[in-house]
Amino acid sequence: MKKIIIVGGGVSGISAGIYAREAGFNAEIFEKSHTAGGQCMGWNRKKHHIDNCIHWLTGTKKGTSLRKVWEEVGALEPDMEFIYDDKFYTTYVGSENVTLWKDLDRTEKELLELSPEDEIEIRKFITHVKYAECCEMPADKPMDMMGIKDYVKMGKSMANMPKVIKEYGGIDLQDLSDRFKNPVIKALMTDYLPKEYQASSFIVSYATVACGNGDVPAGGSLAMVNRMLRKYQNLGGIIHIGSTVKKVCLEGNKASGIELMDGSIHQADYVLLATDVMEAYEKLLGNEYMDKKWKKSFSDVKKYPLFSGLQMAFSIDKSAYPYRGTIFFDCKPMSVGEKNVNRIFVKSYEYEPDWAPEGKTVLQANILQYDEDYEYWKNLDSETYNMRKNQLAEEVMQRILVKFTDLKGHIELLDSWTPITYERYCNSYHGAYMGFITRKNVKSFRVKGTVKGIKNVYIASQWIQAPGGLPVAVTAGKFAIMRILKNI
Ligand SMILES: Cc1cc2nc3c(=O)[nH]c(=O)nc-3n(C[C@H](O)[C@H](O)[C@H](O)COP(=O)(O)OP(=O)(O)OC[C@H]3O[C@@H](n4cnc5c(N)ncnc54)[C@H](O)[C@@H]3O)c2cc1C
Repeated sequence: MKKIIIVGGGVSGISAGIYAREAGFNAEIFEKSHTAGGQCMGWNRKKHHIDNCIHWLTGTKKGTSLRKVWEEVGALEPDMEFIYDDKFYTTYVGSENVTLWKDLDRTEKELLELSPEDEIEIRKFITHVKYAECCEMPADKPMDMMGIKDYVKMGKSMANMPKVIKEYGGIDLQDLSDRFKNPVIKALMTDYLPKEYQASSFIVSYATVACGNGDVPAGGSLAMVNRMLRKYQNLGGIIHIGSTVKKVCLEGNKASGIELMDGSIHQADYVLLATDVMEAYEKLLGNEYMDKKWKKSFSDVKKYPLFSGLQMAFSIDKSAYPYRGTIFFDCKPMSVGEKNVNRIFVKSYEYEPDWAPEGKTVLQANILQYDEDYEYWKNLDSETYNMRKNQLAEEVMQRILVKFTDLKGHIELLDSWTPITYERYCNSYHGAYMGFITRKNVKSFRVKGTVKGIKNVYIASQWIQAPGGLPVAVTAGKFAIMRILKNI
């Protein structure tokens, strides 16, 4: 039986391991951390659980090809329970607010009541979100392995997508926001995703959530990863945790295996790199093997921006916070690195009562961080870094208290973390937790994940296709195994 070594035990790596075992390969995952999951993570603080990934999982709708993949890897079960929420998120400007409901007619009505002068743009927006409900990520096979029949099938099922791309593919979220007159709707359009994103990405995101294809599985991120890991191990897959890979061992144009930091060598017929892509090339394989597309994109952050987050988790008394879900609000400006921040988002986790002691729940806050913010954090010495992180957590807490006054005396900081945290724990390039942002008029990033010049090494991570995220990660693992099988 041929052996595949997989470097990285995140969603991409475990997915690859499961498909490798199903295809009859021996599979061994090497993961540097002491738990699997990578960025799909959660941890405990002061008897609270902090879930740090799934805000929405694309592919939860039954009958879609992505749902089939999630079930194949054991991440979702056929009778999976999902957290009920009737909305995507709520935006506040001052005391005025508006919500993107799952019920699109309700959203339309609410937007029209708030701003009749924006009627044309509101109706256009809702119509196109309805069109985008048909949008499905191809998960059966990679695009380049699709035949005419597959394209015809995809074209039929996504018949309305060209209309969405035509109207919103050439503008970004800032442009979309500028189309509206009402300040709350303007903020609504740029709150959820970085404003550099092509507007069509946001239309598709909202449509995905609205049509029930982007729900949150009960138990959250860690429970999902653990289900995948169980499936992998039940299939006979092996995982070595706490095992940092130093490099891929090359013999001519072939990999013979890997070397760990402890100097041990592990032989394999195939090596699959399911780490962050910079880690894969810069440290494990050698930059000279990096695909030109990646090189170009990483060297042009304006065209291919990346983002991360400055985040905090608080324990709050449930009784003092009668809200649910994700809320964006404006606040007194505060300086984060080189920038002034005047909007924050909070998300509450009251839907998982086991994640906090009786009467409490977790409230998380997030402030978007770009490449230059990463540089800011990276250049601080460890004492200043910790001091600044704690100061900002306090400043964020004060702003939460201004917005939600009933929380006074009912809120306590649990933890705070920055882009550096993702770099440290997952070797994530500049702390980025998604792939490149797809900008207007820039071709969406996609590569095959093969390595020119080395036959038996493949890249299987969220980086092979923009915008990354869990759906790309799980299919990257599957597709890498399909490519190996095709090339045998
Ligand atoms: C705050 C946050 C919120 C998110 N929200 C969502 C969401 O709502 N929906 C969504 O779809 N996605 C979301 N994502 C993105 C999602 O988590 C990632 O896209 C996905 O987990 C990436 O999986 P991956 O396996 O490709 O990479 P990773 O998770 O980065 O896994 C790579 C693994 O490789 C390991 N590794 C690295 N270097 C080495 C080495 N040298 N040797 C051994 N092991 C190594 C790392 O420790 C890690 O475990 C979110 C991410 C974050 C951080």
